[in-house]
Amino acid sequence: MAPNGWFHRRPKMKEHSSRSQTQEIPEGLWTKCPNCGEALLVKELEKNQKVCRKCNYHFRLSARERIEMLVEEGSFEEIGGGLASVDPLEFPEYPEKLAKGRANTGMNDGMVVGRARIAGWPVVLGVADFRFMGGSMGSVYGERVTRALEEALRRRVPAILVCASGGARMQEGILSLMQMAKTSAAVGRLNRAGVPYITVLTDPTTAGVFASFASLGDVVIAEPGALMRFAGERVAQQAGPTSKVPDNFQTAEFYLQHGTVDLIVHRKDLLDTLSRVLTFCCQGRMARETPEALAAMR
Ligand SMILES: [Zn+2]
Repeated sequence: MAPNGWFHRRPKMKEHSSRSQTQEIPEGLWTKCPNCGEALLVKELEKNQKVCRKCNYHFRLSARERIEMLVEEGSFEEIGGGLASVDPLEFPEYPEKLAKGRANTGMNDGMVVGRARIAGWPVVLGVADFRFMGGSMGSVYGERVTRALEEALRRRVPAILVCASGGARMQEGILSLMQMAKTSAAVGRLNRAGVPYITVLTDPTTAGVFASFASLGDVVIAEPGALMRFAGERVAQQAGPTSKVPDNFQTAEFYLQHGTVDLIVHRKDLLDTLSRVLTFCCQGRMARETPEALAAMR
């Protein structure tokens, strides 16, 4: 017979630091900033577009929250919403992971795209949701990005893609990797036709997505502090000529200094910045769909 206590965990010693007190705050009403540890009232945080009032940490947004924040109310019409991943390699536990992603997000993959209007300008908008299998790019994700870019080309309206991704989805193997070439080729066709393409890189935008359509924007905007990289830190260190890499070398701020990113924009200014970029690109080239212009069309 097992001695007493083998199967019973000892109660942990109580900690009395202020940090442990913030962790005990009831979930749902309050949350803790992962960057500075500040306890934040969830309602206040949502009012502040999910940015920490103390340190400006930008919490991740769902695709739905991002769309609501950017587009004119009621203007978003989804494209390719019916596409769903199959399991071509019969990869262990892939169907379960897809089901969990669907339950987490209410979406059937980690990228949603559609026609929309921003500040009166007709656009095609795509938004990633990191909660769906870490925003990984499988064939549906890549197909939706491509359809968004093709729709922008067909209508000759700007394409905007808000990116978040852990990279190509390993469960679909080579089919995921080929999305990098497919989406990049679609960006190339948009470029040759002179149709504006804007990307917004949010935390984190990495690996196969970073190394394809995400970093190919005519204008590349990033959120403050966003992690951006192709390979992980240790791999990058081994690949370079020196063993030491700068401390912040995989952040939006580093890429701004070195020209990969054009602008770092606080979330509260993102809509205004996109409006200005769209006006700069489109003024005199296409019609702005103001309420008056829309009324005249009816
Ligand atoms: Zn904070």
